[in-house]
Amino acid sequence: MSTKRILYQKKVHSIRTISHGVFVLGFNHDFNFKAGQVIAVDLVPDGQPRLYSIASGEKEDLMEILFDEKKNGKLTPFLSVLKPGDSVYVSEPFGTFTTVAEKGYWIASGTGVAPFVSMVRSGLGLNKMLIHGGKLDENFYFSNLLEKLMPERYIRCNSQQEDTKYFRGRLTKWLQNQPYLDTDVPYYLCGSAEMVVEVRDLLIARGIPFRNIISETYF
Ligand SMILES: Cc1cc2nc3c(=O)[nH]c(=O)nc-3n(C[C@H](O)[C@H](O)[C@H](O)COP(=O)(O)OP(=O)(O)OC[C@H]3O[C@@H](n4cnc5c(N)ncnc54)[C@H](O)[C@@H]3O)c2cc1C
Repeated sequence: MSTKRILYQKKVHSIRTISHGVFVLGFNHDFNFKAGQVIAVDLVPDGQPRLYSIASGEKEDLMEILFDEKKNGKLTPFLSVLKPGDSVYVSEPFGTFTTVAEKGYWIASGTGVAPFVSMVRSGLGLNKMLIHGGKLDENFYFSNLLEKLMPERYIRCNSQQEDTKYFRGRLTKWLQNQPYLDTDVPYYLCGSAEMVVEVRDLLIARGIPFRNIISETYF
């Protein structure tokens, strides 16, 4: 997706692989932002940047994004081979997919967990339940941190690994299995368009008012 935001040069601080083809890129910053916001990222100042959710906390010096490398993608195959000290161009944070401290559900597929990781790292996870869908156990990114900071409120739904330690099935199956879903709290959805549309329809069918469904679609 192309945006016309001003991009600022930053030096890569770190890049690490956290799963097959999945990376966390970090750089120092002096932006103010709200957990859940995104930045535009590119390797040149005037190209066609892509958007990424910030995965780090509001008060942390290092800003991190979580991304998976898309085969033949225009940006991610080049982002994944960056080294500390290389340049990356980023916009100021923006976006409205932010949260409040009240009770709510967070529902994510794949790298769509990133804004919720930022929210947890910013101290906003106390009253939330996070339901994360992935194909394999290795796709539950930041699970050590989430297990520690959201004990009992972090559900992992594994759609493809037979011997998973976690719920076996897609996150939609987990939601369908719940005898009761609170209709008075917000549901935050983040990830692929397919997941967002499917979960939205499921929640509406379960009596959740549309105004309580807030989504961020990765495309
Ligand atoms: C609000 C928002 C937040 C996002 N946050 C994140 C995030 O936190 N983490 C994350 O990983 N992603 C996120 N994304 C997605 C991200 O912006 C990129 O789209 C993604 O990383 C792919 O970028 P790319 O340039 O590598 O791939 P692209 O060049 O965009 O290509 C993507 C895929 O489409 C294929 N493709 C490209 N052109 C064609 C074509 N003409 N015909 C058929 N196939 C084609 C490519 O081969 C590739 O597999 C977000 C998107 C949005 C809108």
